[in-house]
Amino acid sequence: MVMGSLKEETEVVVVGAGPGGYVAAIRAADLGKEVILVEEREKLGGVCLIEGCIPSKALINAVEVAHNAREAARFGISVGDVRIDVDKLRAFTQGVVDNLTGGVAGLLKRRGVTVVRGRARFSGPNELRIEAPADKGADVGAIGFRHCILATGSCINELPAAYDQPVWHSAQALTIPSVPERLLVVGGGYIGLEMGLVYAGLGSRVTMVEFFPRLLIGADEDLVDVMVRSAAKRFEDILVDSKVTGVEKSAAGFAVTIEKQDGAKERREYDQVLVAIGRRPNTSDLGLETIGLGLDEQRLIPVDERQRTKIPHIYAIGDIVRGPQLAHKASREAKVAAEVIAEEEAAFDNRAIPAVVFTDPEIAWAGITEREAQELGIEVRIGRFPLHALGRAQTLGRTDGLIKVIADPKTHLVRGVGMVGVGVSELISEATLAIEMGATLEDLMVTIHPHPTISEAIMEAAEVAAGHPVHVNPPKKRG
Ligand code: FAD
Repeated sequence: MVMGSLKEETEVVVVGAGPGGYVAAIRAADLGKEVILVEEREKLGGVCLIEGCIPSKALINAVEVAHNAREAARFGISVGDVRIDVDKLRAFTQGVVDNLTGGVAGLLKRRGVTVVRGRARFSGPNELRIEAPADKGADVGAIGFRHCILATGSCINELPAAYDQPVWHSAQALTIPSVPERLLVVGGGYIGLEMGLVYAGLGSRVTMVEFFPRLLIGADEDLVDVMVRSAAKRFEDILVDSKVTGVEKSAAGFAVTIEKQDGAKERREYDQVLVAIGRRPNTSDLGLETIGLGLDEQRLIPVDERQRTKIPHIYAIGDIVRGPQLAHKASREAKVAAEVIAEEEAAFDNRAIPAVVFTDPEIAWAGITEREAQELGIEVRIGRFPLHALGRAQTLGRTDGLIKVIADPKTHLVRGVGMVGVGVSELISEATLAIEMGATLEDLMVTIHPHPTISEAIMEAAEVAAGHPVHVNPPKKRG
């Protein structure tokens, strides 16, 4: 192709090759559409594969292996001095990323999707201009299309106090440029927590600072408390109700001013600062104004339940539309958009989007949370089952945690499930399926759960909610 001078025509163009965009491209191609996927990065897979979900979980797993080896003495196992070779860990993580991004390229190729490298911008309601990446010419100059799916994802939020300072964001931190002796993590959301635990596992003395009164503000307190008790043993300090108001370069690294809610200020020294205070949608440089597509107050693109924007042949999915910024939510929306384009009956009508925090212990929830029920004044019946009452948790030596089932008090429909404990990331799918299928407490209770597994706690929690538990005491009878 002649660089930058060609105009291609296609039925469907997808912008962005993250878990939203590449899934949309594959589904649209499988439904018989001619598809071009535009991506400005060299690799496919988006933030999730390149600098998000995947490398973070590879690192978390590695530090957990080391942690468990150190803890193994209580089972009578001695493994001597446990060391982490950071170069090997970095190479392993990069290898995982390369395998998966290469796999995405292969999937797209086999589906006949044309991948165009470059940055897309609207030049009209049925045309995108493709600008070359900084170092190369774009494959084509413009793409004319009948349908467009926007999946441009999100980027990091800067901390104003650290603007222009060489602090880390999650993308740098995932490459492990060094293992700082003292690391300040700004932001107690899931990314800050996961990265903080990685660096604590690598040997850094980690302090976490969070603006809100609690870490993981969106999750239920009883779940978060269990995780925080464990995190407090690995972190040097956890400061809540506190904000960073100044970051300056100092001889040691960074001099950071931390302000408590009562106005008291403190200056502390760190070797490195990692800022993880959320992400903002990539919606500002798409030429949306050219086609009259407005944004909401959070700079997200408004869409209906079919992922259609107010311009009916333009769709938006993933981190640039409402809802949690999660890869699996982007992929579900991707399938909806592609199926709607192929004139299939499809809508994003899911009842639950599961969320997982890969801390130790892990936290996961789906459907309504206890806090949401309280805030919305929704009456619910809750059954909690502590993991210490479970055989499997005892055999693993991991009795820290609980599972709770939140149900409608009249119909017993399962409305939400929350979990904290070892390996619960793998269990939340059962809960999500239960909510999606309209299961009741009784459905969970009569479903045979294999023994001994942590999954039994879902059944046990449903029994608690229904009022007849076996392995914990039943509620006292009145009168
Ligand atoms: P992205 O994955 O952001 O992909 C968008 C793509 O569009 C990018 O490749 C970008 O280069 C490209 N692009 C942008 N603008 C243009 C343009 N104009 N032209 C061409 N290309 C363009 N989510 C989970 O579900 N589980 C996790 O465990 C998890 N962990 C995470 C850990 C970290 C450290 C981070 C940062 C995120 C994590 N996430 C996780 C969130 C997850 O990565 C995102 O929700 C997900 O990647 C969003 O998918 P997307 O397709 O909307 O966009």
